[in-house]
Amino acid sequence: MINLLDLDREAITTLIADKPYRGNQVFQWLYQKRIDDIARMSNLPKELRERIASQAVIAYPSVARHQVASDTTEKFAYRLADGQIIESVLIPEEDHWTICISSQVGCAMGCRFCCTAQLGFRRNLTPGEILAQVFMPMRRYPERLFRNIVVMGMGEPLLNYANVVQAVRILSDEQGPDISTRRITISTCGIIPRLGSLWGDTRAGLAVSLNAAMDAKRTALMPINAKYPLPQLIQALRDYPLPPRRRITIEYVLLGGVNDGPADAKALVKILHGVRCKVNLIPFNPWPGAPFTAPEPEAVLAFQAYLKARDFSVLIRRERGRDIQAACGQLAGGASDGMG
Ligand code: SF4
Repeated sequence: MINLLDLDREAITTLIADKPYRGNQVFQWLYQKRIDDIARMSNLPKELRERIASQAVIAYPSVARHQVASDTTEKFAYRLADGQIIESVLIPEEDHWTICISSQVGCAMGCRFCCTAQLGFRRNLTPGEILAQVFMPMRRYPERLFRNIVVMGMGEPLLNYANVVQAVRILSDEQGPDISTRRITISTCGIIPRLGSLWGDTRAGLAVSLNAAMDAKRTALMPINAKYPLPQLIQALRDYPLPPRRRITIEYVLLGGVNDGPADAKALVKILHGVRCKVNLIPFNPWPGAPFTAPEPEAVLAFQAYLKARDFSVLIRRERGRDIQAACGQLAGGASDGMG
């Protein structure tokens, strides 16, 4: 059976083999009203609903686990149709929520500071599995304003390119959830060949997980750097066709005594020359068995001060959901707490 949530407007129209406006109606039921039962598509003739139901379903994952942290951050583990588990995080902001979603089950990139990497790569998520991580909280908490979407959970989004692009297009579609592309951010470890088309395909924000400004150090932390080295990555960021008022987010996980010293800050300033960006510093949250420690608070502040003094916009990312392992780089589908 086809899952309708895996289909874009064109594929829906082809599937139902009816007049194009019927495809739009189905699209709106799925992505604007977010129903989960074809029989509820009340403006479609009964015969058409039955014909769709004979070929397709609207299938959402089930909630395998739901945790709420003391700071009200929520983590959901979803069980997919084949039994695989993925995780998403709801992050409370002052007057809205951010949803951090996964793009793959596990990840092949092997970043040494990342808990997801421990899982290895299992498979790509379908467009519907990506979208469900946004729609399920929207259905569960209709009173909440879910305004920002970050594709920063498990997986490397640009290695599941077509499905991520399809999901982002649906999320920003006026006849769907209509989330502004300014409020959707895709985070990559630096898959250079995809950076040439990402802006044109999505108009979404770009975040790059950098974590070191020296080539050899970055390769030691992030094996992908051997394939797509730092100088080429930075050049791709300089060439990234952002409109004037938008900036790339540089994510930098500070690892105690590893990449948090004055020489690292200096190298970062140097390498980011000419990249229109803001910098997010993320003090490492050690997960059980992690080969790194958290940075000293003074080192974090000194790192930030060095960048600020050189006119960088730089934030220290506030730690969220630490007590439920929902913080950055800690999503592992329960691998670290015996759930999966
Ligand atoms: S940091 Fe991102 S790209 Fe690296 S292993 Fe973790 S999920 Fe994959």
